[in-house]
Amino acid sequence: MDHRLSPELEELRRTVEEFAHDVVAPKIGDFYERHEFPYEIVREMGRMGLFGLPFPEEYGGMGGDYLALGIALEELARVDSSVAITLEAGVSLGAMPIHLFGTEEQKQEWLPRLCAGEILGAFGLTEPDGGSDAGATRTTARLDPATDEWVINGSKCFITNSGTDITGLVTVTAVTGRKPDGKPLISAIIVPSGAPGFTVAAPYSKVGWNASDTRELSFADVRVPAANLLGEEGRGYAQFLRILDEGRIAIAALATGLAQGCVDESVKYAKERHAFGRPIGANQAIQFKVADMEMKAHTARLAWRDAASRLVSGEPFKKEAALAKLYSSTVAVDNARDATQIHGGYGFMNEYPVARMWRDSKILEIGEGTSEVQRMLIARELGLVS
Ligand SMILES: Cc1cc2nc3c(=O)[nH]c(=O)nc-3n(C[C@H](O)[C@H](O)[C@H](O)COP(=O)(O)OP(=O)(O)OC[C@H]3O[C@@H](n4cnc5c(N)ncnc54)[C@H](O)[C@@H]3O)c2cc1C
Repeated sequence: MDHRLSPELEELRRTVEEFAHDVVAPKIGDFYERHEFPYEIVREMGRMGLFGLPFPEEYGGMGGDYLALGIALEELARVDSSVAITLEAGVSLGAMPIHLFGTEEQKQEWLPRLCAGEILGAFGLTEPDGGSDAGATRTTARLDPATDEWVINGSKCFITNSGTDITGLVTVTAVTGRKPDGKPLISAIIVPSGAPGFTVAAPYSKVGWNASDTRELSFADVRVPAANLLGEEGRGYAQFLRILDEGRIAIAALATGLAQGCVDESVKYAKERHAFGRPIGANQAIQFKVADMEMKAHTARLAWRDAASRLVSGEPFKKEAALAKLYSSTVAVDNARDATQIHGGYGFMNEYPVARMWRDSKILEIGEGTSEVQRMLIARELGLVS
């Protein structure tokens, strides 16, 4: 498989690299410190078409694919992960379910504004009582035949992009009935922001991703039209497994960007910083550390691009997506730790980008399937069933 970029993708990569360097890098530190959502940067990303990258032009998209999305995410995350996760969640979790499973009316209603970045979509799967065990959903939705509406009750936690001023919808998973064997029928339903009874809590105080939006949501007799069902009733579980499989590739690209950003910053610092009369980068101990970091970032890139290429060409990609997510998140954490070490005391100061990268790295081993869940998926694909 050829993992070199086509001229179009290389141009996209360069455009996003420039944007990250010229627009994101100078501003994001202040947003991060203030735990503030960077509306002006997100608006600009919308104008560039980044939120529409993998969607068809007829819905306002750029007509690209998951490779294009991954390229953009990697370049953004080389500089900052908060803006990268805002894009990742907006595209993979917010808009993609509508693109893959929505009716023509739902696509016409939501996709053009989502692609333009005018509104953000969110995906509410995780609940306070369980994230990894996604089949244990407790939120319920009952169809009221008198009004032809779903009545939703329950709560969701840790939902990205769910409470910004421009959030337009949250797709939530809910139990809508029981199968003959008593197992829950899980369905996905679009809930527009501002629906009566839909409450969005204040943002969490997080360790990292501080310029991104993460909230707890609650639903008390929230009524939405029956037509807001996304896909078929009872297919919600299968649908979100597909969304998560794809999303892992996007998170892997983001993690690769963070791992590469750690190399970028470390090389720069190792040339500038002097100790014992010479640059610290003249020491083989530092050189070897940086070489290992580069090796890990490079291999992570090959892994996510391999998974993305398989997805784009319609081949099975589940195992490769899990491998890429597991590997890239592990090396992101490794590289962030090593980059901080190379920066010495300055690496512990928030004004240095590596401090932000260190804080932003850990969640990559947790969100959209923990590393344990990735190992479970890989083992299952290898034929081991517990
Ligand atoms: C900043 C942030 C943003 C997020 N954004 C979203 C979002 O937009 N939408 C959304 O739906 N969710 C979101 N999440 C939720 C995230 O996907 C979950 O936190 C994650 O899937 C883990 O679920 P949990 O926190 O309930 O942990 P648990 O499932 O309770 O797991 C706790 C620990 O036990 C381990 N574990 C569980 N089961 C097993 C097992 N069988 N074998 C071995 N180990 C096991 C896990 O790997 C983990 O280490 C977000 C989370 C965060 C922190």
